[in-house]
Amino acid sequence: MNKLLIATNNRGKVIELQALLEDMDVELVTPRDIGLDLEVIEDGHTYAENAVKKALAFAKASGLISLADDSGLEVDALDGAPGLYSARYGPPLSEKLGKDGGERTDASRRAHLLQNLQSKPRPWTANFHATIAIATPEGNVEIADGKCPGEIIPEERGTSGFGYDPIFMLAELGKTMAELTTQEKNRLSHRARAVQNAKPILRKMFTPS
Ligand code: IMP
Repeated sequence: MNKLLIATNNRGKVIELQALLEDMDVELVTPRDIGLDLEVIEDGHTYAENAVKKALAFAKASGLISLADDSGLEVDALDGAPGLYSARYGPPLSEKLGKDGGERTDASRRAHLLQNLQSKPRPWTANFHATIAIATPEGNVEIADGKCPGEIIPEERGTSGFGYDPIFMLAELGKTMAELTTQEKNRLSHRARAVQNAKPILRKMFTPS
């Protein structure tokens, strides 16, 4: 069976992407499964640049068709921040926030976001955005996008998911992302929508020419 490398070291994303790609007729492998230890510096100016860089690097290193994503949370009242910098968002590390002695954590990133929003009028409308890139070892690459609209709320609700999920409310459901079942998140999330848009690309890349 064809193998597809899920090109991320983020455990939360691996779990979501494995479920989202379950119906594809390919064997999904992670960098850990194939003993690949690769960190790619995300220095692009767009989600697409970062996703393409990651997918190409993993495809070249592994010899496998590789799928990478880059994603972020865009808050309207903060002019789209943290956006591309969602994973690196937070107070200066010297403030020693977080139980692990100054490392940024998902919790410290959420606290920092809420602090920055405190003086802004509600509702704090926002979007999650995901861009997926699929690359071949030969260097062909294609991308697909997905968005999920919602609102940031000032108190955490729910325990599922990761990142900003506990403070991201899906207006039409009245639930935060962290209150959704895995099946619900995988139907509605930005990553789910990007994966749906990426499936025709994957089918094409796995079809022998
Ligand atoms: P990157 O795509 O690895 O650069 O990371 C994007 C960052 O955006 C993550 O580390 C999270 O902080 C945030 N993020 C992306 N997708 C989600 C999601 O589905 N739920 C919560 N936070 C997310």
